[in-house]
Amino acid sequence: MPRTRLAPSPTGALHLGNVRTFLVNWAVARQQGWQIVLRVEDLDGPRVKADAASEAIELLAWLGLDWDEGPYTQLADLAPYHAALDRLIAAGQAYPCRCTRREIEAAQLSAPHGDDHELRYPGTCRPPSVGPEGGGSGRSAAEPPGCAAVTGSSLHSSPATQQPDDRAAAYRLLVPAGETTIEDNFAGAHCYDVSAATGDFLIATKEGLPSYQLAVVVDDARQGIDRVVRGDDLLSSAHRQRLLYDRLELGPPPHSWHLPLVVGPDGRRLAKRHGDTRASYYRERGVRPERIIGLMAAWCGLGAHEEMTAAAFANRLALECLPRKPIVFTAADDAWLLNS
Ligand code: GLU
Repeated sequence: MPRTRLAPSPTGALHLGNVRTFLVNWAVARQQGWQIVLRVEDLDGPRVKADAASEAIELLAWLGLDWDEGPYTQLADLAPYHAALDRLIAAGQAYPCRCTRREIEAAQLSAPHGDDHELRYPGTCRPPSVGPEGGGSGRSAAEPPGCAAVTGSSLHSSPATQQPDDRAAAYRLLVPAGETTIEDNFAGAHCYDVSAATGDFLIATKEGLPSYQLAVVVDDARQGIDRVVRGDDLLSSAHRQRLLYDRLELGPPPHSWHLPLVVGPDGRRLAKRHGDTRASYYRERGVRPERIIGLMAAWCGLGAHEEMTAAAFANRLALECLPRKPIVFTAADDAWLLNS
């Protein structure tokens, strides 16, 4: 049976844009008979907020969403990520990097490429044997000059065991040059050049945690996820994840549906700058879940605002009717929610 996941990050409360993606993911899964795994992506330590995970779970249930497995968390057991990293290192596909963000910025010759203002890594610690570009296809990643020899990944060594002059190492994946194309079921064919946009991207931090890219691949693979529905701001990540699927020999990556985001009137992705758009804000003001789902239905091309349950939404949703452009959350939407 196909399997998908709802994967909230407990870095803040769910806003209406998050709700819309989760609702569509859930509805498509229920229409198609996919199993649903709930996975709390709690690795982003500094940004994780206490209670955000339980609040997200409670909110999804209040909206009428359910799941077949989970909630699973990530932080509780880092061993699967360590194993994947060790495998990449052993295969010569990952190398240690001790650059600071400042060093990467100083080596930057032009404005940062990529979205989210990600810096393109200039390859400072890339093993010379691999060459400046186009490595990563089976050649060995030797220890870069100037970096102390590392046996296994630094994920296993605590900072207390490091030499004082030995900065802890992050790990990067060797990225081959050139574009890749993803056939997304909603967005269509999407071309992207990971090596030009982000270069050898981080797969583990100096603090000993797997990056989002590595964790999501390890988890999707071990949890049997073969269907992913999420916002199209993660389309560029899908290319990085595909590379990891390939390097870890995990088989084909999940089929994907990347949906346009909900944005504010200024065209920027929905966030605090647009006022309080948390679903819980409306809930606290007495707005019923049917009303929130009614707004989602209007946003998903199901006609005028009309209250409905999550189950009714799942019966009526047709992905072909989903707008192809970003959805704008307007003052009129806010007023409709509050005038219930
Ligand atoms: N936890 C991620 C987020 O909330 C979703 C990651 C994914 O769907 O791959 O942005």
